[in-house]
Amino acid sequence: MKVKMNATHGLFSLILEPDELDILKPNEKVSLGSKMVEINLPWQLDPDTIHPDHLALCIMMITHPFVGKVLTFPKPVSQRFYDFHHSKSTRYTIGPVDETLEPWSPSENSRPGLAFSGGVDSTAALALMPPTTAAIFMDRPIRKKSLYDKDAAHHSCLEVERLGYDMHVILCDLEYVRSPVGFPVDVANSVPAVLMAEYLNLDCIGFGTIMESTYGTGHRRYRDYPNGNHYTLWGGLFKAAGLPFILPVAGISEVGTSMIVNKAPLGTLSQSCMRGTWKKPCLNCWKCFRKQLLDNAILGNQPDSNYLDDIFNNKEASLFLSRIPIKHENILTWSTHRLESEHELYKLLKERVRGAEDALDWLGKWYSPSIELMPEKYRSGVKEKILKYLSIMDLEDENKLMSWDMKDLIESDTVAQQSESLTNQMSAALKPR
Ligand SMILES: [Zn+2]
Repeated sequence: MKVKMNATHGLFSLILEPDELDILKPNEKVSLGSKMVEINLPWQLDPDTIHPDHLALCIMMITHPFVGKVLTFPKPVSQRFYDFHHSKSTRYTIGPVDETLEPWSPSENSRPGLAFSGGVDSTAALALMPPTTAAIFMDRPIRKKSLYDKDAAHHSCLEVERLGYDMHVILCDLEYVRSPVGFPVDVANSVPAVLMAEYLNLDCIGFGTIMESTYGTGHRRYRDYPNGNHYTLWGGLFKAAGLPFILPVAGISEVGTSMIVNKAPLGTLSQSCMRGTWKKPCLNCWKCFRKQLLDNAILGNQPDSNYLDDIFNNKEASLFLSRIPIKHENILTWSTHRLESEHELYKLLKERVRGAEDALDWLGKWYSPSIELMPEKYRSGVKEKILKYLSIMDLEDENKLMSWDMKDLIESDTVAQQSESLTNQMSAALKPR
């Protein structure tokens, strides 16, 4: 694939030109959609000042699933960037290379950037990062009728700005490169931040990636994230471009990030629901279902029956709850362990996710070995802030995390029966909203 660039002050565009060796349909569900990307960078930013390695990194985040053998950039990359990619022997080669090009390094007084989404996890990340952090929100233009509502996210961004942060909202349509619409790779929400790294003098790029996604606690089993494929490839490419990852919440679960936003001054501005409007989550999606139980458990609010009737009247949640394991099942276990009710559906849920048996206290604590997922310069500052909100896991907690494995649960007949009766009764009770 060849990628061309067309850039003036204010509008930056990329044109993708696939060849016959490219992979236009990487799997059953995903194919190459739009071949044109438009990004509204600030007009003060001269596109010629974007370092070629940053440009290349962004192109890789946009095209990665679709490239077959060769990816050709509009400008040659540095030897360092090329060598790192080459050492990872992905299925394609990149080029051209300019041996005389200095790899990028930040200038004095550089600071972190954060790919900010407005949700709980990235708000918690921002609360733990230095106050000089530049928060960059990638704003997807809405083209067709969509459930996605930008109202809440836009309000969050305005609040971040009001609290004194350097906040940037960048209109960028890269999600249309993938069909169905979405990020081609999970770190692609940082494309505007990477393109602005020179302009904003950034020295690392932050993400609100939580323990469920890094160490696998929201999934079947523990994984050694720092030595896994994702971190060595993408974390390595970012580092080779002079912009290492900073993952302040990588060792914190969704329980912990919710505890942080419940206490931090920044916390009032986060909202994870992308369908409701500002301060009015839709209460009809999977995220809302999980978050309602979690927040009540954190605050120690015991739910009454009417409230639970309302929460369980959620069709999307009934689909998610029918899976084994349930996505982020650990969060439901933690929450139901702390909430008591004789509500019929609630009792079935608590039984299904083993809420009575397992307290999972360690989910509310910080896994400190994750500090290695931050540049040294920022470690002590972030650690100090984390410890204001959370306690630290001891060795026993760490062992519980590292031995996380849902295999027995997945294979259990009892769990299968419990899942069936929960989903059947929940669907039977659904009423029009
Ligand atoms: Zn919702």
